[in-house]
Amino acid sequence: MTAPTAVLSTVKAAYARYEQRAGQFLREYTASGGQVYCGAGCFGCCNMPIRLSLAEAALIASVLTPEEAHKVDKHARKVVHNARTAPSEDEYVHRHRLKVGYCPLLGADGACTRYDVRPTRCRDTFSAFPAVYCQEGTWESMTKAERRDYQREVRRTPGTDGETHFIAPLEELSEPVWNACSRAMRQAWGLEAWGDFWVLTTLAARSGFMAAVERGDKGAALREARQAGLEHPALLEFA
Ligand code: SF4
Repeated sequence: MTAPTAVLSTVKAAYARYEQRAGQFLREYTASGGQVYCGAGCFGCCNMPIRLSLAEAALIASVLTPEEAHKVDKHARKVVHNARTAPSEDEYVHRHRLKVGYCPLLGADGACTRYDVRPTRCRDTFSAFPAVYCQEGTWESMTKAERRDYQREVRRTPGTDGETHFIAPLEELSEPVWNACSRAMRQAWGLEAWGDFWVLTTLAARSGFMAAVERGDKGAALREARQAGLEHPALLEFA
């Protein structure tokens, strides 16, 4: 069972609007001297946990080949294991990046193999610093003096929020995408589902789970997720 066409169309249209607005921002940002270090072949952030809506996950699930879906399913199970065993949120993120590892949709050449349908979070994460600063362990390995230099540099770099080296307005510009997904889910299903990228993408391909969602039956959807071995309160939430 696939998600209603209206949900998928809404997500695609919201992504297209975001790309247009982000493109405009980036042109102005770089024209005024700002630097963006992200590009094809740079994948320093592709091992971060990613949160998305079920609407976005349904779009991705609708295009994956059986082989890709299998890889995403395997990855989702590692994510669930990590969520069930990590003693803290920091440790969860740390293990996610180092042990759960890179997204299975990352190609051998370092490019995203599903760039057209990648989640919002993958679209709105842009770095004003070189990739080494996006890698797990860089901050931990820095001396006190290096951390002070980093913080000073972040504060004087236009576009950051003054605390990290990511370009904040590009994250803010994605707010309408989240809102559009939220409305599309409410209209189609009478509920919203949010959670982990790989867990939701795997669930979105399961007919029993999607049938429960389409009935607006949260309890049945949770039972389906439990039966699939993919239930965890931090990885699948209904609103
Ligand atoms: S979907 Fe693409 S951009 Fe996003 S984490 Fe996976 S490989 Fe990276």
